Amino acid sequence: MRRFPVLDALFVRRVTEASPGKPKGATPRFPGSVQLRHVDAGSCNGCEVEIAQAFAPVCDAGRFGIRLVSSPRHADGLLVTGVVTNNMAVPLTKTLEAVPRPRVVVACGDCAVGEGVFSNGYGVAGSVGDVVLVDIEIRGCPPEPTSITDALRELTGR
Ligand code: SF4
Repeated sequence: MRRFPVLDALFVRRVTEASPGKPKGATPRFPGSVQLRHVDAGSCNGCEVEIAQAFAPVCDAGRFGIRLVSSPRHADGLLVTGVVTNNMAVPLTKTLEAVPRPRVVVACGDCAVGEGVFSNGYGVAGSVGDVVLVDIEIRGCPPEPTSITDALRELTGR
């Protein structure tokens, strides 16, 4: 009979999940690490909740070299959520202009991709792809944190 089950759990049994294997896609565009500026162009905030979970301990996108940064001038690209509202079309364009090249634009969620529930709204300028060039699309309403993490891992190759 074990006398110290708590210690066994800490020191004997494995308490972490194995890291998933590396992505098998094309050559990563930002090998090792990528910094992204998130832009909410008109989201319902559902996608933001899932992005927060992608960077929380379970998915922990940071361990794959993916980071969110505050300034577009520190970023390698944009992570855009939501439809693009009329009021956000110019700010989105200007934010992208502030990102140095080479850069990447990720459209996150069905709204950003152009298939969302708000696509025909009266205040909507269009999808992200209607306003700026999009490199990566992540589908789902909202996309699952693992989908977001997996798509961003293709950028770093980790
Ligand atoms: S894709 Fe869904 S969760 Fe994301 S902003 Fe659109 S309606 Fe909200």
